[in-house]
Amino acid sequence: SHRITLGPLVAAIDQGTSSTRFLVFNSKTAELLSHHQVEIKQSFPKEGWVEEDPKEILQSVYECMERTCEKLTQLNIDVSNIKAIGVTNQRETTLVWDKETGEPLYNAIVWLDLRTQSTVERLINKTPGRNKNHLRHKTGLPISTYFSAVKLRWLMDNVEQVHQAVVSHRAMFGTVDSWLIWCLTGGKSGGVHCTDVTNASRTMLFNIHTMDWDPELCKYFGIPMEILPRVRSSSEIYGLMKSGALSGIPISGCLGDQSAALVGQMCFQDGQAKNTYGTGCFLLRNTGSKPVMSDHGLLTTVAYKLGRDKPACYALEGSVAIAGAVVRWLQDNLGLIGSSDELEKLAASVGTSYGCYFVPAFSGLYAPYWEPSARGIICGLTQFTNKSHLAFAALEAVCFQTREILDAMNQDSGIPLTQLQVDGGMTSNKLLMQLQADILCIPVVKPSMPETTALGAAMAAGAAEGVSVWSLNPEDLSEVTSEKFDPQINPEESEFRYARWKIAVEKSKNWET
Ligand code: ADP
Repeated sequence: SHRITLGPLVAAIDQGTSSTRFLVFNSKTAELLSHHQVEIKQSFPKEGWVEEDPKEILQSVYECMERTCEKLTQLNIDVSNIKAIGVTNQRETTLVWDKETGEPLYNAIVWLDLRTQSTVERLINKTPGRNKNHLRHKTGLPISTYFSAVKLRWLMDNVEQVHQAVVSHRAMFGTVDSWLIWCLTGGKSGGVHCTDVTNASRTMLFNIHTMDWDPELCKYFGIPMEILPRVRSSSEIYGLMKSGALSGIPISGCLGDQSAALVGQMCFQDGQAKNTYGTGCFLLRNTGSKPVMSDHGLLTTVAYKLGRDKPACYALEGSVAIAGAVVRWLQDNLGLIGSSDELEKLAASVGTSYGCYFVPAFSGLYAPYWEPSARGIICGLTQFTNKSHLAFAALEAVCFQTREILDAMNQDSGIPLTQLQVDGGMTSNKLLMQLQADILCIPVVKPSMPETTALGAAMAAGAAEGVSVWSLNPEDLSEVTSEKFDPQINPEESEFRYARWKIAVEKSKNWET
């Protein structure tokens, strides 16, 4: 076997909603050398509730690290070439643990969870003019079940152990990044309690202008500031790995998954955008050094801050709660398919939904509607409709939801996107990609290395001061090869189907009142 000349290596932990991955990249070429992936269990203890086990999440990270290191060794690559580790994670998902025992005090409440719906409605009803955008000027976000603050409030109000730990100053709050970094850097014996600006910007406790926790917001939600992690940039050394094969290696990058994908897709310029198709679907457009407030239901969020002394970059974001999750639902709840990759064949066998529309508003509707009381509907059924049509309608639903966000984005910025860069687990579905191009009426472009989220986290880690093995200067970034899907149906047909979709969306609203 030949020996490849390697530059320094950089690794990334990608802790997503449906799985955890550990990946190792060559910093000179951005080439993916080895990786390992482990599925994460989700539990649904009550209708609308979604939880994950914090210890299982941590264990999956260790397992992925170990297996990836074994694979590297088999490839004749020395693990000591790894110079830094980046972390990227499902955002908003909320954890509280005890800093003295190191034990989680409840399951992680996953971003999709709806248990705080009544709290959210109460909060909105108390605002002047019943305005869900009451806190938007500081946070860039509408008051919604989606963000961490209300989830944390629920934990403090409903879990005795959390309440006790807060009162006795033993509680630590964090999103998944904070939990992982704290554990990996030593946990109860000296772990670092921090988060980065992108994750912080999804809590509703963070002021995106001052770039720090906001005392007024904390007071509004009744959150004691001492339980919050320290907010750092997305690229700096937070601490060192405490144990295992990678002991002593700095953790030096941290980005919420959607920010990491933006970086991994090299969207560093104002106006550049990407759409990621995972459990949900998230379209982010870089707006440069200024936070732009949306008039069309999009979020304003921190895109990244790549270094302590570097400026923050902002993004407009359209978030769709259910994308890949609808595939998992067809698999787990209906048994329509045995695995997610069977969906494409099933849908392709008919090539049409035959007038069936499927609005998967399982967690209410996110952007651009922000309707927590919407629920899923399947309509337009006839005697002729079969499971293949339903499969097709599910894929189309993902495309229509993206179209709604793209329209909102174009209206907010005034400059229409001429093509869409995409990534995420669902983009391996070629039928979905072609449908997306057809429904958007613009080309869809997919990089041939699909792990852009992990790549972004690795880039941030490798570029950190004190590591400096990855240059983010545009002229040093390697050329990306990609696959392009051009629209193939005529725009009238596309508009007709989109108009029907919009009618279906109206029917899904105000179901749960
Ligand atoms: P996350 O980061 O949210 O964990 P991923 O990017 O790993 O998500 O994507 C996983 C999601 O994509 C799952 O919901 C899965 O059902 C869906 N998925 C994966 N492969 C396919 C496919 N070939 N067709 C449709 N959906 C798919």
